[in-house]
Amino acid sequence: MAWIQKLSRASGKESVEDLMQQKKQLLVAVDRYNRIFMGSRGYGFVDWDLLNKRMHWDGAFWENLGYSQQDMDHISDSNHFLEYVHPDDREIMNNAIRGQLKNQHNGEVTCRIRRKKGGYIWAEFRTSAVRDENGWVSFMSGIAFDVTKLKQTEQALLISEARHARIIKSSNDGIWEWSADHGGFHFSNRCWEQLGYTEHDDVVNQGIDRVQAWRARMHADDGEVFDKVLRDHIRGKRPFDIEYRIKGKDDEWRWIRARGQMTYNEKGEPKRMSGTNMDITQLKNAEERVIKAKEAAEKANRAKSEFLSSMSHELRTPLNAILGFAQLFELDSNLNSDQLANVEEIKKAGHHLLQLISDVLDLAKVEAGRMSFSLEEMTPIRLLKECVVYLKPQASERDISITTEYNGLEEQTICADCVRYKQVLLNLISNAVKYNRDGGSVHITCSITKDDQFRLSVKDTGIGIPAEYQHQLFQPFNRLSAENSHIEGTGVGLVITKQLVEHMGGQLSFASQENVGSEFWVEFPIQYEQTDVSARERTEELWNSDVNEIPELEITTTKKILYVEDNPPNQRLMQQILARYPQLQLEVAGESLRGIYLARTSKPDMIILDINLPGMDGFETLDVLKKDPQTENIPVIALSANAMAHDIKRGEESGFETYLTKPIEIGKLIATCNQLLRDK
Ligand code: ADP
Repeated sequence: MAWIQKLSRASGKESVEDLMQQKKQLLVAVDRYNRIFMGSRGYGFVDWDLLNKRMHWDGAFWENLGYSQQDMDHISDSNHFLEYVHPDDREIMNNAIRGQLKNQHNGEVTCRIRRKKGGYIWAEFRTSAVRDENGWVSFMSGIAFDVTKLKQTEQALLISEARHARIIKSSNDGIWEWSADHGGFHFSNRCWEQLGYTEHDDVVNQGIDRVQAWRARMHADDGEVFDKVLRDHIRGKRPFDIEYRIKGKDDEWRWIRARGQMTYNEKGEPKRMSGTNMDITQLKNAEERVIKAKEAAEKANRAKSEFLSSMSHELRTPLNAILGFAQLFELDSNLNSDQLANVEEIKKAGHHLLQLISDVLDLAKVEAGRMSFSLEEMTPIRLLKECVVYLKPQASERDISITTEYNGLEEQTICADCVRYKQVLLNLISNAVKYNRDGGSVHITCSITKDDQFRLSVKDTGIGIPAEYQHQLFQPFNRLSAENSHIEGTGVGLVITKQLVEHMGGQLSFASQENVGSEFWVEFPIQYEQTDVSARERTEELWNSDVNEIPELEITTTKKILYVEDNPPNQRLMQQILARYPQLQLEVAGESLRGIYLARTSKPDMIILDINLPGMDGFETLDVLKKDPQTENIPVIALSANAMAHDIKRGEESGFETYLTKPIEIGKLIATCNQLLRDK
């Protein structure tokens, strides 16, 4: 060892006892160092004698790499040492040695050292050069130890850092960090790039002022919200996630989505907040375009509804005259049978037109999602019976039988809207009759399916639907070539039916074979609870009232009725209807002001008001009448061609006793007179 040799070189003048004493001390020291070397496990202690090219190794460094005592001879020859170093690292090792030989006192180098059985470990060498009086390095001593684990961790860290950097770069997000305790702020260049700046722009290089620069560019409306969200986040109330506008270099507004997370010190004080900025300008612009498109579509839809509503009004007004006069003719006992048949034709055509108008309106309403449903527990078979009674006369005209099979389900309930469910049944059964052959049959079956659905199926023996047309079945106005036949229809009934069923939570299906027949069925989940009696009664009441029947007028004393209507045929119609009842004296006003005047002067017992009057409409007229003490107590009813659900609702809410729609139904008018003019 170097220091023993040094000691021996310097020890010429000492006595033998001194020498013996020193030797003893030396042996104790050598023993101690040996223990330290051997106890230091993986460490290697090297003392390299450059003159003799020998490296003296202590410790278990090489032993741990699998080398034996014999191998140490080879390793200790410094001519061979580099053979144990990884070929790629030899240059590094040589440079380190050269550096130390030249001028450095201490040196450190990390390189790969070969294991005996192959493979390498990472080892760190830390050495010091020992120089003689001339400055030549005679010894190089130091330690070597295994740093493979450290190196692996370091490499894993580098890989993970590189991965994070790649992810951040590819995400195109800017990153920022704010030292809440020291006040420092870091924005990555990407944050500025998002605003159109490059790293050469002054603003990017303004140190701490960058925060002010950033804040100054923020939209005034968003700055306050930003501060509030930040304050809430620091207090732990909510995550920091905010969208704000900020002005770019080109003075255009950009949208940034900023997300971040505050960390706290052990005392719970805010320490550091890190986060990302995402440029969401394009997303926001697209969102804005979608909102605008939606608004435009809604506007168009409103325009469509308004068009349909006014079209309905325009069509109903002349229809009112046609159907009203036809009803009057029917009541005329002077008509012969041919004339009566002609009247019947007029009524049929009028009703067909009316059906078309209602279908188109229904379709538009369902499509716009504006049809209201009142879903309640109801008994489908009760409605079915009503429909069969209603359609049997039509079926027997062509000798078509309608049979039913209830399977004990008369009291079974489902949840649906009575009016709409009946509309569904009427459509399916009337189609089964319409598209049947003369003398055919319609069979209606009720059953419960395996998955607890109440199924009502309508099966006919009619013309069926050719397979090639079946996929077009639910397309509006598509009559699948029935338009070439004598069978009347509009091609929208089934579309509405399907939509109604689905809106009520049911399902409509069909199967059909050309020239054999069709089967249409609707399924609704069954209700397990007992039927609520009042609901049952309501259902019964609804369908037992026959609005087409004209009741007897129960008024015996003379009553005055004022009719405010601008359309002359409608005025004449009302005159002729009421002329049949001598108790009812009619006075007609062609516009609102005259109507109000007559109401004040003649004091009628009831007023019938049209809504679409020129100048002052029916609602305004009603308002005037109700505010005037002379007329406030006179019952006013509306009779209007505005027949959309919202018109009726508005009318009822405005203070009309009742809201009747055109075409006028004489039965309903008389029933209203009975109710409002009854002798007290
Ligand atoms: P419409 O009966 O007014 O034409 P629908 O929407 O009710 O309109 O029916 C659409 C088309 O489907 C009909 O025109 C007809 O061609 C066909 N169709 C409907 N029901 C039946 C049926 N039971 N048998 C044969 N064809 C039918």
